[in-house]
Amino acid sequence: MSDATLRHIDDVLSHCIHCGMCLPVCPTYAMTYQEQSSPRGRIRLIRSLHDGSLQLSDEFVNEMYFCLDCQACQTACPAGVQYGSLVEDARHIISQQGQEPLSLRLFKKLFLRGVLASKSRTKMAARLMKLYFKSGLQDAVDQSGILSLFSDRIHAKHQLLPQVSDEFFDDDVPEVISPKGKPLGRVAFLSGCIMNVAFPSIHRDAVGVLVKAGYEVVIPKEQVCCGSLHGHNGDVEGAKSLARNNIEAFEKHNYEALIVDSAGCGAFLKEYGRLFADDAEYASRAAEISKKSKDVTEFLAGIELPKPITSLNKRVTYHDACHLVHTQKISHEPRRLITSIPGVEFVELPESTWCCGSAGIYNIVRFDDSMKLLERKMENLASTHADIVATANPGCHLQLHYGIKKFGLKMEVMHPVSLLARAYLARLD
Ligand code: SF4
Ligand code: SF4
Repeated sequence: MSDATLRHIDDVLSHCIHCGMCLPVCPTYAMTYQEQSSPRGRIRLIRSLHDGSLQLSDEFVNEMYFCLDCQACQTACPAGVQYGSLVEDARHIISQQGQEPLSLRLFKKLFLRGVLASKSRTKMAARLMKLYFKSGLQDAVDQSGILSLFSDRIHAKHQLLPQVSDEFFDDDVPEVISPKGKPLGRVAFLSGCIMNVAFPSIHRDAVGVLVKAGYEVVIPKEQVCCGSLHGHNGDVEGAKSLARNNIEAFEKHNYEALIVDSAGCGAFLKEYGRLFADDAEYASRAAEISKKSKDVTEFLAGIELPKPITSLNKRVTYHDACHLVHTQKISHEPRRLITSIPGVEFVELPESTWCCGSAGIYNIVRFDDSMKLLERKMENLASTHADIVATANPGCHLQLHYGIKKFGLKMEVMHPVSLLARAYLARLD
């Protein structure tokens, strides 16, 4: 553990005044009403480990991974405790000491390091999945009920698999896309890993709207996964290795803002500066990326957009992704963009900032807890009678899509920028 990380833990711990104002907003505390499953309780556990009065135990490990890292506690905290980075530091300690649960260790090794860490392996895995879907095998396996014979959990996780697109976003997109006429500015765009293979249409909508708004968009070919799933789950070395690649790929280009359409990735790019704070070679370069990173809704809400071309005529609600509302403090911007679209009847979602249970890889490694949160989210969604639920994070998108199917709701899940692309007829071809 680096000196900067230890200083950071000291600093964060010293801010907590134990007031308990974070408890009512904590989803895991709401599930158990146990102090140790609250932010304040976990801070006590981390403090005890840090000062040596507690050994790394199974109970400690369980609490750090029962936590969703949703950072709702950070929003509620009057003392500004940066809880998210603290729990990620605790997970790093657990990882370094080899104390993670076996399922998580395997998932990190096979999926995070084995697949997502390499763009070509991510595409290879996506192609295999595509083959699996297209062959009809997925439907056959689902309908046969064979997985339920092993476990209902395995059957449900199987249905949570993302649909892989026919074309990956970066396969044929040019590195630089220019608007008609003189550009108003130049932005860079993160294509990422899962978004690149599973949600290329959202990327096309985002880039299409940016170009329609008059911006030149550069999409560096050498960029890789941002490392957020690695960083949020204790694999700091894996995250830093990917981050170095990205710093080098993006700094070859001139741009005023780095646009991101995945809340988790954007939150992590904004963390690059802290990640490299004590690295002489990368500190200022990482800080520059963090300073320039902007969620696509944050950027679009801050510029003048042309008038929408069509009317949507839909009832729309909005689910706040944790890494957008709590980590990046962005909640008004997507609402402002959505309500600017003609024909949108906007209805607020009760408990819109309460985690849906996706939380990175939480719905894989803590499936039962994740489903309790999903059920609560679906009750709230049903009460809106919306046609569309908008959300700005791929994990939430998949979780809500799964929930809507499971609970029999009639609702489409869309990224806010896809609503804009429809209104502006601005999708990139
Ligand atoms: S984390 Fe913040 S809100 Fe929670 S107990 Fe500490 S000071 Fe209070
Ligand atoms: S990050 Fe979320 S789940 Fe974890 S302690 Fe804070 S509010 Fe609770």
